[in-house]
Amino acid sequence: MDFSETERVRELREQLWAFIDECVRPAEPRYWAEFSAETIPQRISPVMKDLKAEARKRGLWNLFLPDARFGPGLTNVEYAPLAEISGWSPLAPEAMNCSAPDTGNMEVLAQFGTPEQQERWLRPLLAGEIRSCIGMTEPDVASSDPTQLALRMERDGDDYVINGRKWFISGAAHPQARVVLLMGLTNPDAERHRRHTIVLVPLDAPGVTIVRQMEVFGFDDPGSHCEIVFDNVRAPQRDRIGEEGMAFLIAQMRLGPGRLHHCMRMLGLAERALSLMVERARTRVAFGKRLAEQGVVREQIARSRVEIEQARLLCHKAAWLLDTEGGRGARFEISAIKVVAPNVACAVIDRAIQVHGAAGVSQDMPLTQMYAYARATRFMDGPDEVHLAAIGREELKREDGRL
Ligand SMILES: Cc1cc2nc3c(=O)[nH]c(=O)nc-3n(C[C@H](O)[C@H](O)[C@H](O)COP(=O)(O)OP(=O)(O)OC[C@H]3O[C@@H](n4cnc5c(N)ncnc54)[C@H](O)[C@@H]3O)c2cc1C
Repeated sequence: MDFSETERVRELREQLWAFIDECVRPAEPRYWAEFSAETIPQRISPVMKDLKAEARKRGLWNLFLPDARFGPGLTNVEYAPLAEISGWSPLAPEAMNCSAPDTGNMEVLAQFGTPEQQERWLRPLLAGEIRSCIGMTEPDVASSDPTQLALRMERDGDDYVINGRKWFISGAAHPQARVVLLMGLTNPDAERHRRHTIVLVPLDAPGVTIVRQMEVFGFDDPGSHCEIVFDNVRAPQRDRIGEEGMAFLIAQMRLGPGRLHHCMRMLGLAERALSLMVERARTRVAFGKRLAEQGVVREQIARSRVEIEQARLLCHKAAWLLDTEGGRGARFEISAIKVVAPNVACAVIDRAIQVHGAAGVSQDMPLTQMYAYARATRFMDGPDEVHLAAIGREELKREDGRL
């Protein structure tokens, strides 16, 4: 395994830190000040438009795509430290056109889209002109098991007629959101994993209604996580991605890199929490000593450092496997890091909150919002238990216990 940094990654890393320090961090207060309940979904802070233009100018654009036709063509090992840095700010991934769920959707369109679909949706997504969603989860079925998804897509002439309800569809309320990659039931009598299909549905199609925006621990963001009703929505069959019944295959392909990218960003989030914890411990005095001199606090700091380092190694191993053996070869390491990284981030943020005292749970610090994001990531792209079940199943198949 070789995780050593290439020359171009070293350069990109320096450029990315400069972008974060000079542009992204200073923009954060204005971005959040301009974002309020009344502004959703009509408006998003103009700061983001400026950040996108600046990121593009600096060559920090579409770094996630290994396909060199669309960006610098980085491997996953090369992208890992860069995605981690972007995890230091909630604004950076979108500013660099590297945020979920667009990244996974772009990968699907690049790999499975027809030339017409690529022209209509992939081109503007790559240019950062529009945003997109992935519509899998439903309120009425346990969506950890996607074979149960019930939203119906029935053939009618050249169209599908779509009826059903989705929720937690991230980004659907974003003012630039235009399309959802919608997963629905087309072939109920087929084998379990061949029943569902993905169709591209414009968010302004007649019959598509955002009925509410789900909050996460009371937080919302400009794209929100939406509950959407599909009421007799008509979508032409030419807007289907791949063949009927291919939704699982496509979703598995999409989720591999997507899960890993979440984990890379989680490491950055954990690093930011640790840096806040260290800063506070250095300056706050209790019982005649700085917190940093208290053994208990030092242990919390040390434990956080150790856990982040462990998680980073696993993350880089999964990235290396994805580069060298593809999604199938990397699937257990990706499941493993998908469990580890959000849990490490939660633990580190929780300790940072504790070291800050009451300020840690207040609006003066970003820690509660960071915690909400890390905790929610334990569900995104599959809850911990589903990944643990997959790893456990494989482990039990081993006859001699050898790797
Ligand atoms: C902030 C946020 C953003 C999201 N964005 C999107 C999005 O953009 N698009 C989208 O489609 N979905 C999105 N989701 C939904 C997410 O993918 C689902 O929540 C997840 O797949 C779990 O489905 P569920 O909520 O229906 O939980 P359920 O399937 O009801 O599972 C509930 C619990 O049951 C347990 N469980 C389930 N399976 C097993 C098992 N095999 N073994 C043991 N225990 C098990 C686990 O504890 C699990 O948490 C988002 C979720 C959040 C919180």
